[in-house]
Amino acid sequence: MISSVLPTYSRAPLTFVKGEGCWLTEADGRRFLDMGAGIAVNVLGHANSVLTQALTEQAGQLWHTSNLYEIPQQKALADKLVAATFADTTFFTNSGTEACELAIKMARKYWFEKDQPERVKIIAFEGSFHGRSSAGIAAAGAEKLTHGFGPLLAGFVHVPFGDIDALRAEMDSDVAAVILEPVQGEGGIRPFSDADMKAIREICDEVGALLILDEIQCGMGRTGKLFAYEWSGISPDIMLVAKGIGGGFPLGALLATENAASGMTAGTHGSTYGGNPLACAVGNAVMDVVATDEFLAEVNRKAGTLRQKLEGLVASHPDVFEEVRGSGLMLGLKCVAPNLDVINAGYSAELLMVPAADNVIRLLPALNISDDEMAEAVARMDIAANTVSKGSK
Ligand SMILES: *Cc1c(COP(=O)(O)O)cnc(C)c1O
Repeated sequence: MISSVLPTYSRAPLTFVKGEGCWLTEADGRRFLDMGAGIAVNVLGHANSVLTQALTEQAGQLWHTSNLYEIPQQKALADKLVAATFADTTFFTNSGTEACELAIKMARKYWFEKDQPERVKIIAFEGSFHGRSSAGIAAAGAEKLTHGFGPLLAGFVHVPFGDIDALRAEMDSDVAAVILEPVQGEGGIRPFSDADMKAIREICDEVGALLILDEIQCGMGRTGKLFAYEWSGISPDIMLVAKGIGGGFPLGALLATENAASGMTAGTHGSTYGGNPLACAVGNAVMDVVATDEFLAEVNRKAGTLRQKLEGLVASHPDVFEEVRGSGLMLGLKCVAPNLDVINAGYSAELLMVPAADNVIRLLPALNISDDEMAEAVARMDIAANTVSKGSK
């Protein structure tokens, strides 16, 4: 008999009942160190007091009014995002996928309004992830996402990850936009180099194609800048934000330049919940903490410390790990042993890690993790690696 919850996930047999910072308490009382943070969502850890206060204060005032009326919390958060980024305007959603949907609509509408309605082609990179909607799976293109769900939304073309020549070969005046994650998350923590980011921007500019950056996983301070694009010195036309921006409350956003957004006039898009007072109260509180030089400097310092410890871990377990990769506190351990074996051994050591493609383990801790907690996480990874080495001998 089918489970009352649609069985699309194979879940670990763990039930968490309480969270505090980087720690989660299981129903049986065990305390797990959380190096996944809800897949890069809980940027300030679990039950953060500042976020809890923002949420409960708003909950006592007003939950929801709809976008038929002005929403001051939404306007305040939009102003902050515009002030902190390349963007001139913002649309709020409840998830990353919805932000991606709007990006694709926006790019096509842009060219439609420029009297080039045939200009619909969107180029994406293999190994990418843009959500599970029909547009999102068509954009990512991988068989494991699209199998059985055809006919797919038309107009997407895929080039190998990081293959700038292949991108150039596909680029012509039919291309509406290029979409990519500056650091691929699900694809196995694969960063585009700064040089590649610059080259992609130039190739787009040659024909006027819009550049869409999906920073749903790598944004909101994760790489040590507020947004990952800042490292490369270029800026996009459209950017997708979600996960960390709500700190655990469902919230996403599309950010765009005035030019890129020019086709999106009243009535062309909408959302019932998008940008509602509860979500935006939390989003404002997250931004106030994360979008400061002091906080981001700490992320960079911690990232350096964690990376160094992980390099040591990899060096002492060459039969389990191959390399450390990634950026900031978005780190991947490329494995020699099956990544799921290591993750399962981690559960036994009361440590939570997240798998990714390419046999990688993702480490995406809360950005305010302490030095002691990072040391403890690596000690538990060492235990997990020992378990896996023993098992294979
Ligand atoms: C998680 C993710 C999405 C989808 O976001 P949802 O909130 O799950 O809809 C899209 N793109 C990237 C890069 C992601 O990591």
